[in-house]
Amino acid sequence: MILANKINLVLLGPPGAGKGTQAVLLKKAYGFLHISTGDMLREAIKEGTSAGKAAQGYMTKGELVPDEIVTRAVIGRMNKPDAESGVILDGYPRTRVQAESLDSSLKSENRSLNMVLYFRTSEKVAIQRLSGRRLCPKCGKNYHVTNMPSKIEGVCDICGVSLIQREDDNPETVKNRLVVYEDRTKDLIDYYEKSALLREVNGDLSAEELFEGIATLFKREGLVDDNSDE
Ligand code: ADP
Ligand code: ZN
Repeated sequence: MILANKINLVLLGPPGAGKGTQAVLLKKAYGFLHISTGDMLREAIKEGTSAGKAAQGYMTKGELVPDEIVTRAVIGRMNKPDAESGVILDGYPRTRVQAESLDSSLKSENRSLNMVLYFRTSEKVAIQRLSGRRLCPKCGKNYHVTNMPSKIEGVCDICGVSLIQREDDNPETVKNRLVVYEDRTKDLIDYYEKSALLREVNGDLSAEELFEGIATLFKREGLVDDNSDE
């Protein structure tokens, strides 16, 4: 059994880097709690909470939701008991202010980040992934028209309902999300490089190849037990 005790991980990289896909795989393999701010916000919109109402307009345009809203949601989630044994933060932080909020919140709890995984990804690959992404409106499973197709085109393997495209995956909004990433988030690579937490992986690889690489990296860095079953 692999133990991923009290490991707090940040996934950093542009939209379409495959952070969400790797987070799901890492959760399965190591038992992390996966905190995706995009998923949390979409959930809040569905439930019609005040945070959801405030976030909706920004998300549709591919803009960032204001720091206070996202930070409140993430820190609130991290302070629940099931987050104590380690979390994967997927989509947070995305600005310098968020990174600083995260630092001080972790510090006040005597916790710290163990690693920031930076998914270096070419724009071409990111756009190809986002434009081909489909998802099941019922169970939330992600597909891709060519990289990860459903068994029957346009239909969820599990639920049998029609797949949809995320509202912000249209070409215009994708373009803006990538611009916003360059503008607001890329600077965090520098921020985490200075704290020696940054480890770079190749986001252009297939999901399986990339997962292998990350698992190897975890072992090399002593984040997980080495004598695990493979
Ligand atoms: P992606 O990373 O592929 O753009 P996400 O599902 O992570 O997709 O995020 C979707 C949207 O949610 C973003 O475009 C942004 O509007 C909002 N969002 C998610 N995380 C944050 C964050 N940390 N700060 C501000 N806005 C966020
Ligand atoms: Zn489904």
